[in-house]
Amino acid sequence: MPLAEFSLIDRFFAAQSRRRGDVALGIGDDAAVVEVPPDQQLVVAVDTLVAGVHFPDSAAAADIGHKALAVNLSDLAAMGARPCWATLALTLPQADDSWVAAFARGFFALAERFQVELIGGDTTRGPLCVSVQILGTVPRGQSLQRAGARVGDRIFITGSLGDAGLALRLLQTKGMCAAARDALDARLHRPEPRVAFGERLRGLASTAIDISDGLLADLGHVLQRSGVGATVWVERLPRSAAFQACVSPQASEWFELPLAAGDDYELCFTVAPEHADALQGRARELDVPLADIGVIAAEPGLRCCLDDGRVYQPRRRGYEHFG
Ligand code: ADP
Ligand code: MG
Repeated sequence: MPLAEFSLIDRFFAAQSRRRGDVALGIGDDAAVVEVPPDQQLVVAVDTLVAGVHFPDSAAAADIGHKALAVNLSDLAAMGARPCWATLALTLPQADDSWVAAFARGFFALAERFQVELIGGDTTRGPLCVSVQILGTVPRGQSLQRAGARVGDRIFITGSLGDAGLALRLLQTKGMCAAARDALDARLHRPEPRVAFGERLRGLASTAIDISDGLLADLGHVLQRSGVGATVWVERLPRSAAFQACVSPQASEWFELPLAAGDDYELCFTVAPEHADALQGRARELDVPLADIGVIAAEPGLRCCLDDGRVYQPRRRGYEHFG
């Protein structure tokens, strides 16, 4: 759709994208050119959202715009990196002005909050699919990675787990829980990436990952890459007030959603015990709630325990594509 494509880009994307002094060449050429400070490394991630797979067909365009960027910002947060620039590959069934306008509103509202500039992209016709690439920077050698957890490190989670999974379940089952529904839906449709806190974890955390596929799966990646195991106390998993208003501690969901549901975009990270005080200080400064949920062990595998020491056996291990 050459003509319609250019007018869409100009009206909704090109006009809104001059934000940073380090963009030498933005939207409008064959590629973008950016300045990377000499003491920094470039950090790059890409995530794709497919209609009907990563968001329901009923999802609002503004929410899709928000979420497509948010999941990428979350990946950079988990690297301890600062997001700077983004590119956007948009596949649309038709050139629908009002849909693109709403999408752009959601996307740019979030981009502006984190001073991220859209510097390019691609627009094609096809089934609705949104792919965002994020580029950011980190001081040389200081990125947070999945490898590096040591025996005795504590395992922490920001915020709370299970809200997005609960919202999705309520949507799929037409479930109730009127009191907390808006708060839960916001977690599913408009996740808040922990960008500022991710940057503050540099020099403190031994590993970090963001929770997109569920704690068991994502912490599992950290354990595997670090060559260690862990014990997690499932009663200490952080659950929001909204979650607690809708799920009873006797229900299996009380444990299963915080353990295995995805889409929460909280950070899970490990910290050596000697850094625990510094960590709490930084969390207070940024007003980020932290839960201390477990400890890294030498024995491989992830063991879930109740506070009385009994083993808790999870039912499923998280969301797996093509699973
Ligand atoms: P090319 O043929 O060189 O790939 P395009 O016609 O695809 O160029 O795009 C023209 C310009 O518009 C490029 O600078 C490209 O980065 C930008 N662009 C295209 N689609 C988008 C989009 N969805 N979001 C942001 N920029 C876009
Ligand atoms: Mg192109």
